[in-house]
Amino acid sequence: MNKLTKIVVTLGPSSDSEEMIEKLILLGVNIFRYNFKHNTLEWHSERIERVKKIADRLGVVVGTLIDLQGPSLRINMPQDQLIIEKGEILAFGASAFENGKKGLSITHPDIINHLKPGQKLLADDGAFTFYFQKEKDGVQLRSDTTGVLKNHKSLNIPGADYPFPVLIDRDFQGLELAARKDVDFIALSFVRNARDIRIVHKEAEKYKVKGKYIAKIETQSGLDHIDEIISVADGIMVARGDLGVEIPVEEVPYFQKMMIKKCITAGKPVITATQMLQSMIDNPTPTRAEVSDMANAVYDETDCVMLSAESASGKYPLQAVETMRRTVSYNELLRTENLTRSFDHSVKDIPSMICDTAYGLYLQHVHSNQKIAGFLVFTQTGKTAQLLSRYRAKTPIYAFTPNKKVRDMMTINFGVVPFSREVQPDAEVSRQSVREVVDFLLSKNLLQKGAKLIVLHGDYWAVTGGTSTVQLVEA
Ligand code: PEP
Repeated sequence: MNKLTKIVVTLGPSSDSEEMIEKLILLGVNIFRYNFKHNTLEWHSERIERVKKIADRLGVVVGTLIDLQGPSLRINMPQDQLIIEKGEILAFGASAFENGKKGLSITHPDIINHLKPGQKLLADDGAFTFYFQKEKDGVQLRSDTTGVLKNHKSLNIPGADYPFPVLIDRDFQGLELAARKDVDFIALSFVRNARDIRIVHKEAEKYKVKGKYIAKIETQSGLDHIDEIISVADGIMVARGDLGVEIPVEEVPYFQKMMIKKCITAGKPVITATQMLQSMIDNPTPTRAEVSDMANAVYDETDCVMLSAESASGKYPLQAVETMRRTVSYNELLRTENLTRSFDHSVKDIPSMICDTAYGLYLQHVHSNQKIAGFLVFTQTGKTAQLLSRYRAKTPIYAFTPNKKVRDMMTINFGVVPFSREVQPDAEVSRQSVREVVDFLLSKNLLQKGAKLIVLHGDYWAVTGGTSTVQLVEA
């Protein structure tokens, strides 16, 4: 059986050869992520093309996710590194280096004007703590850490309220590339509220971007506005790296669970990201704690788990993906299924009601120890597959759509195995069409003769929101 939890893998110098990409696809990677914080746009553009070509040749559907840089801050100084003592006072800002002063600046130094004395700043993923202060001779940082701070390291200013656009210059080029390469998912860094996403929607319209928008939640402000963000975004990424610097690290597991729950209720996909197999950057085997963390994300019922540096620049990308595949496959089938799960929906929302009915039919089989080999969904926009996915049933959702783009965008949804079929715009979903796709699944060895499927469809293949029928079919 296909695994149900999806795997997102960040491509980088450790994994971008044709040979590696092929191996990663065959190991079960569902979505390749391109992190625009690293490498040039040409690099990403070429790799997106490369992956698509290999996936087409292998006949495997994979999604493409670009992760825009957004307004992240970095250390900016003329030298490669600065040796800092605890208690030391450093000049801060664009003029920090005047007259041979010891100091540092940041990318976008204009935000320094908005900081208040006593504000905490964290550099290099929280390894360095500074406190902001204003003196007669300028703004300064008091270091609370002894160490060697390298140039270009990350900088977080937890809780600070400073005006900043959600997109930076390079992100506009990213949007242009998203349109040109027909990218499926665009991840937005440091989303603070729904307004940020609306701004991106507006900008992206200018470039005719067609993908889904994934809001990365990595600040307190993102958490404070989580409900409105989920309602306007197409999905969420629990970006635990920055989140664990912006809020106390012990709070991250609670918010991970909270966000996953909210996304399931809203029927929006959620990616749990960062440091899942961090030690595998250098080692061929994971720590027990890492495997446990990943399995816990599966028990939380995340749609996707993600690898960052482990696959992009680590020494063991294949082993990391293999570990991920084995861990999610084993644990997702041992979850305690929620046998009373239901979601609010209006009686006018027929596809939602049909999904509820289909899940009820599935549960009746679970209760009587009878096997359902999968759901079979005919979908124009992917909505029915996504609505059904939120029940987190332990059986695949084979989703057929006439639209290749919709097919690729379903790579993110828990349990959904997407396919496309060319059909006439007015083609009806007849007994014959159901039989044809069942035969197709049999031919791919995804089903065995006599297996039971729950089928959801409308009268026509290519009508949006038309799902109206549930039936039981034997393969
Ligand atoms: C994160 O901070 O967890 C994250 C996914 O963002 P990035 O890798 O872009 O820093």
